[in-house]
Amino acid sequence: MDGMDMRSILKCVRCGTCRSVCPVFDVIGWESSCARGRMLVAHGVAMGLEADKDVLDTLNMCTTCGLCEYVCPSGAVPAKVIEHTRHQLVLHGRLTEAQKELAGRAKDFGNPLGEERERMSWLGESAKDVRERADYVFFAGCLGSYRYPELTKRTFDILKNYGVTVLQEEVCCGSPLLRTGSDPGRLISKNLEQIKKTGAHTVITGCAGCYTTLKNDYPEGLNIVHVSEFLADRLDAMDLKKLDLKVTYHDPCHLGRCNGVFDAPRDIIKAVCDLEEMKSNRENARCCGAGGGVLKGYPELSRELSRRRIEEMPEGVDYLVTACPLCRTNLMRGGPKVEVLDIIDLLEMAME
Ligand code: SF4
Ligand code: SF4
Repeated sequence: MDGMDMRSILKCVRCGTCRSVCPVFDVIGWESSCARGRMLVAHGVAMGLEADKDVLDTLNMCTTCGLCEYVCPSGAVPAKVIEHTRHQLVLHGRLTEAQKELAGRAKDFGNPLGEERERMSWLGESAKDVRERADYVFFAGCLGSYRYPELTKRTFDILKNYGVTVLQEEVCCGSPLLRTGSDPGRLISKNLEQIKKTGAHTVITGCAGCYTTLKNDYPEGLNIVHVSEFLADRLDAMDLKKLDLKVTYHDPCHLGRCNGVFDAPRDIIKAVCDLEEMKSNRENARCCGAGGGVLKGYPELSRELSRRRIEEMPEGVDYLVTACPLCRTNLMRGGPKVEVLDIIDLLEMAME
């Protein structure tokens, strides 16, 4: 554990504010499942506490949603401490089966899903529109490439009108590994080399996990924008029709609270239909329950977190809209009464 993490642990005055907001504590109810308890466990690990199964579960059940950091009156950063402690334990060979599986698949296949298919096949006939050099690169991401290929192609088909290209040999951005404490190995350098080759100054992504990783974990000062930011700036030039719809919006934690992107998705929604906010929103938005490896490692906990987020939806909306494929996937698992859409799906409905 480095000095910064220890300072953060020592900043904790045990006030318990984080207990009142932590979505995982809300479900599990044990002190060890909120930031305050996890900080004590992280401190114990730094002091030589043996990382048995309970310790690993305590540390790995955190979605890294950052809500505790947002409310902490002492300026402690529990999600970062937890992530760094996971990393220390991984370095010493102490990790869960889920962590092992994610890391192994990313190393073997270049994606944490274990997909062996050609990653860029989502391009279809749009492969002919890929430029070798461009100012902007669209980073499709693993879920975009393998789980939502049609949405990803339709997103690129909009973006290519603005001279955007893609990476021919894109691999996972590294997010699932970094968030669960593993080393991303060659993934980052492989993507960076290709971005450099295109000459692009800006990378566009539609995934909150890719966004925060490209922005905060990649070593070079790339300009990273979410696809909603890129398109919100260009709405005036689009011929959009007004839809007779009311939707609500789920803020992905790693896009909103952790990186401050709140307005662009809302600008798109308000340009095409009515928006009614969820009970908690913007900086205070509750997590969908998927991040930090929780969907992979603790699927039932993850589903319950999603179910509780779904309970925050206002009545009478036509769709639940979000701006991240991982949030979308897990929100669907929470059993909403309406369809979950990506922000690009909604924009496209107004473009038809
Ligand atoms: S809110 Fe901050 S200071 Fe208070 S218990 Fe949680 S981590 Fe500690
Ligand atoms: S990051 Fe989120 S899930 Fe993790 S301890 Fe903080 S509030 Fe709880």
